[in-house]
Amino acid sequence: MSDHTGIREQRQPGGSTRKSKAPAKTVFPMKAGAPIALPELPYAMDALAPTISRETMGYHYGKHHKSYVDKLNGLIAKTPYAEMTLEKIIEATARDAAKIAIFNNAAQAWNHWFFWLSMSPNGGGKPGGRLARKIEEDFGDFESFANELKQAAVGQFGSGWAWVVLDKGKLKVTKTANADTPIAHGMTPLLAVDVWEHAYYLDFQNRRADYVDAVIEHLLDWEFAQQNMPA
Ligand code: FE
Repeated sequence: MSDHTGIREQRQPGGSTRKSKAPAKTVFPMKAGAPIALPELPYAMDALAPTISRETMGYHYGKHHKSYVDKLNGLIAKTPYAEMTLEKIIEATARDAAKIAIFNNAAQAWNHWFFWLSMSPNGGGKPGGRLARKIEEDFGDFESFANELKQAAVGQFGSGWAWVVLDKGKLKVTKTANADTPIAHGMTPLLAVDVWEHAYYLDFQNRRADYVDAVIEHLLDWEFAQQNMPA
């Protein structure tokens, strides 16, 4: 089935939509070389509803994310960046004011893909295993950690991102403005929450705090976060 954005619904054999079972997620880094692809979502367009509706996904993934990828491909065509992975392009342009357009589009392409992977239709709840132990060690308990993540997401002034990262081995919550990304600052991202208005305005209007609560409560994929922790 195609919706108005032209994005095809992912269907499993037998015709059911992939709503209940979490499929395996693509592991970084992405393949090097232009054109940089818009990766296929690991779940159906309506799988994150009602927190993130099919309509929001249509615009956010189908228009916004796609537009960053398309603009990046236009900017890097026939340049040395066309031979690099997305991560390398970000690293190579992060501190070069003349390359800000390439950086912005590359970082947004990366941030969005990481954000889609940071959520699952079976997400939410609390993490277990190594991540749970790390949260206890660095935040005391899950509630304090989740509260700090919420404050970062709600407190980011204007467009940007809230992140769970490892910074020199310490678990931290941080935020970045606009396209900025922890991978340009030597940190290891574990999870991302997009707090640009385009991420929530159709579903929550101006209520960013309600959107963030719902993402933390129902969608964050703690298994993906743990998978991003170095062994
Ligand atoms: Fe976004």
